[in-house]
Amino acid sequence: MSALPWLHPDRVALLEQALHQRILILDGGMGTMLQAHELDESSFRGDRFEHGHDGHAKADEGNAHEHPGSCDLKGNNDLLTLTRPDIIRGVHTAYLEAGADLVETNTFNSTRVSQADYGLQHLAYELNLEGARLARAACGDMTAKTPDKPRFVIGVLGPTSRTASLSPDVNDPGYRNVTFEELAENYTESANGLIDGGADVIMVETIFDTLNAKAALFALSELFHQRGARVPVMISGTITDRSGRTLSGQTAEAFYYSVAHARPLSVGFNCALGAEDLRPHVQTLASIAESYVSTHPNAGLPNAFGEYDESPEHMAGVIGGFARDGLLNLVGGCCGTTPAHIKAIAEAVRDCAPRVIPSAAHAEAA
Ligand SMILES: [Zn+2]
Repeated sequence: MSALPWLHPDRVALLEQALHQRILILDGGMGTMLQAHELDESSFRGDRFEHGHDGHAKADEGNAHEHPGSCDLKGNNDLLTLTRPDIIRGVHTAYLEAGADLVETNTFNSTRVSQADYGLQHLAYELNLEGARLARAACGDMTAKTPDKPRFVIGVLGPTSRTASLSPDVNDPGYRNVTFEELAENYTESANGLIDGGADVIMVETIFDTLNAKAALFALSELFHQRGARVPVMISGTITDRSGRTLSGQTAEAFYYSVAHARPLSVGFNCALGAEDLRPHVQTLASIAESYVSTHPNAGLPNAFGEYDESPEHMAGVIGGFARDGLLNLVGGCCGTTPAHIKAIAEAVRDCAPRVIPSAAHAEAA
């Protein structure tokens, strides 16, 4: 990918300049913020999906027409990009006001395979396009107020609800419910929407299966070649439990070497664990990665009710330690984090120097 020119060279130059100067702040959780609105089924549907089908879809598209209204859309947070854009934009703005330099699009499940759970697979491109446009608009407003601090849109490609490396049936280990090719086609469509909507960067995030991530990285490489230009790529894996491995069984180091060929802008970890439990894995990345290092942990481990209750002060205290030890280039929050967490984290890392990339350190010393 590295031979191609940047699609938006001026934006990349601003981002690189900022990364050189300081630790950049990512936003926090989207789901947590949406839950606070206590939206019901009709709010998720809006006018467009009021009658259980998509009034905009052509007759031959999607199977929404095959099951009109048979499936609840409540919980399809990505659909709110189309039905309640005011709320999604409000979340982006709240994070920007809390100090985020980069905001993530509301597109975690905006792939064809994930939207198929709701019979809305035909919306995949549109959800990504509009998701990026909303984030772009929120960033544009904020940058206009403080032009010395540019804001950036991270177009998010989520892991999907399928796993390419593992069988969902323990009695049939050879079975797969998704193929590499299918995932690559999904990611191509979604990434095209994100880029057309104005994403500055694409982040392949919450990677629990490296093969899924490789399908995304392959799709990005192909579409950059088709477009004759690329955008920076961020890669963020998930250590799923205290065993210190991803769901597909890799340690932090193994994971890094599986994705380093994509020459990402950054590699990191997010979700699943709180900051304390993620620290040794971020430390491993920080010691080996020839790219920037990011982390956006959950607000601790979920409690018995599936809620996250680590306070902004506590989380910021732990992350401040990461920053003082030189482990970080980008940091934010995942599940359970709010603008209060992001504000506290931004304050905790403000006076810390960003991590120096090891190869760059060697080159400068030589
Ligand atoms: Zn999370």
